Amino acid sequence: MRLKIKRGDQVEVITGKSVDKGKRGEVIRVLQKSNEVIVQDLNIRTKHQRQVQSEGKSINPGIVKLEGPIHISNVMLVCKKCNKPTRVGFIREDGKSIRICKKCGAKLD
Ligand SMILES: [Zn+2]
Repeated sequence: MRLKIKRGDQVEVITGKSVDKGKRGEVIRVLQKSNEVIVQDLNIRTKHQRQVQSEGKSINPGIVKLEGPIHISNVMLVCKKCNKPTRVGFIREDGKSIRICKKCGAKLD
């Protein structure tokens, strides 16, 4: 399957009920099975961690912030060249498929 979004891409949240709509961030993980991406500093979920025992001492890490997954259909790739959220097209070059920006035609790989 050709992936439209890869790790390291800039994406913009375009839809969904997320408070992060309209925000941009860098993709830090792609979850291929569920078609979701983890975007740095977006869709932050706070998780309360339990106290843990370590070497006889009790430490409380408190609240941990974690990025929650965002479905791929809720984000759009931001083109490096025209700096706009865009749909992705594919062209073949040297036997590889290369992603292009549908707005300006720039190669994105
Ligand atoms: Zn572009």
